[in-house]
Amino acid sequence: MQEVAVDAELTFRDPARARALSARLEEEVHALGRDPVTVMHVCGSHEQAIARFGLRAAFPEGLDVIMGPGCPVCVTDVPEVDEAVALARSGIRVSTYGDMLRVRGTVQSLGDARADGAKVDVVYGVSQAVALAREIREPVVFFASGFETTAVATAAALLDDPPANFSVLSAHKYIPPVMEIVAEMPGAKVEGFLAAGHAATITGYGVFEPFVERHRMPVVVAGFEPLDVLAGLLELVRAIRSGVPKVVNTYPRCVTREGNRRAQELLWRVFRPIGGRWRGIAHVPNGNLRLRDDFADFDARRRFDIDVSSLWDYAPPKLVQKCQCGDIMAGIASPTDCELFGKECTSDAPVGACMVSSEGTCKIWLTYGGHPDLRNIRRRAS
Ligand code: SF4
Ligand code: SF4
Repeated sequence: MQEVAVDAELTFRDPARARALSARLEEEVHALGRDPVTVMHVCGSHEQAIARFGLRAAFPEGLDVIMGPGCPVCVTDVPEVDEAVALARSGIRVSTYGDMLRVRGTVQSLGDARADGAKVDVVYGVSQAVALAREIREPVVFFASGFETTAVATAAALLDDPPANFSVLSAHKYIPPVMEIVAEMPGAKVEGFLAAGHAATITGYGVFEPFVERHRMPVVVAGFEPLDVLAGLLELVRAIRSGVPKVVNTYPRCVTREGNRRAQELLWRVFRPIGGRWRGIAHVPNGNLRLRDDFADFDARRRFDIDVSSLWDYAPPKLVQKCQCGDIMAGIASPTDCELFGKECTSDAPVGACMVSSEGTCKIWLTYGGHPDLRNIRRRAS
């Protein structure tokens, strides 16, 4: 395993350094002697950095950087939203993040249920939901979505003596197993992964070593500044070119091999991994996080009789049937492949989950100007 030294004085948005990195990236891709080389990142924050700073224009022509299942809101599956909606419609108070309010289940989003009179609160985090439960006497269910980073916060809240009227409906997901699924997808073209720096601060980069061993594919942990992304991609293409699969940590200012042991301990004391569906992708073994038996009293699934059958009579609206979120998260389609993109589906009126959250690919692409593939413009200009 290799750690890349980072210049302490590095200015992470220095255009001259960005150009130099971009030129080296081009050389590496060129030296591979074939194109395209396709790599995937699995974090909405990486896509945001790429779109916001126009980095695709700095990528060489032979390099395809695609976004996989990197938005926790997007991958929350329809039945999980249905559980939250059914709970709310049965009169239980449900609190959740603002983004989750707009994600549709089979028939309704939590926002729709609220418009129909259900008690649904938007909170900024689990601690606000716990505070709400302390304040009022009625049951409060926190609909908890997010990857390992946010699951640690939920775990900490449950270990901090929450009130008895508080419980959690966990839709938390764990990233490393889904990389296995994407790597094994029939027709998958992905040759390496750019892993999310902040998730790796918790899990450590060592968590990717078994994956690299099994799939003979490199993983590079990268931060979120423009130079972090370019440096991470450079290492990724180098690793592909070397033919020696390895984990490379280009974010040593935050990430170690072991990660944050204390956070891991909290996470696994409260949660256990189980298999479950990710929206649009597949059943992911060990990809979902559920509360352990010790926390059964705080597990909304065990505490309430959640009956989603009342929702099954509805057919999904016609527009939803055209949504291509699943293909987008599997890395086989881009937002502009979807006929609804920017027309029937916008940030104000999202049809699919990828248009809801600021980490969703469709929302990011629309926010930063539609199809951000500036290479075509560059080609035309030359
Ligand atoms: S939770 Fe963090 S690591 Fe995961 S997709 Fe969002 S920004 Fe990236
Ligand atoms: S543009 Fe909207 S409908 Fe199309 S894939 Fe994206 S979220 Fe789904």
